Amino acid sequence: MSHPGATVMTPASPRPRERPNADADQAMRALGNALLSMLDRDQAPPCAGDDRWTSDDHTTRTDVAKHCQPCPLLDPCGTAATATKARFGTWAGIDRTPRGRTP
Ligand code: SF4
Repeated sequence: MSHPGATVMTPASPRPRERPNADADQAMRALGNALLSMLDRDQAPPCAGDDRWTSDDHTTRTDVAKHCQPCPLLDPCGTAATATKARFGTWAGIDRTPRGRTP
């Protein structure tokens, strides 16, 4: 599973090996479609190409979380993170990386 910011940088990124479940697939598809719609309008989410969202440093990940609030992808990003049980990086304003684990 790719973070949305990384997806912008690598649009041909490989599909994940594990397909967690249909809800996760649907949520990631919705996020991907919303992201493509944004890119079609020459816009990009704040995390695009910015590795602070997937930084090894917890403080960095939490500091950037506020930049998610105005993001047009906030809802589908949060839904995708929940559906896929994202366990690394900041998604939709929440650092999903468990304490003590680096992404
Ligand atoms: S809500 Fe945050 S993590 Fe999700 S796409 Fe937007 S900026 Fe990126």
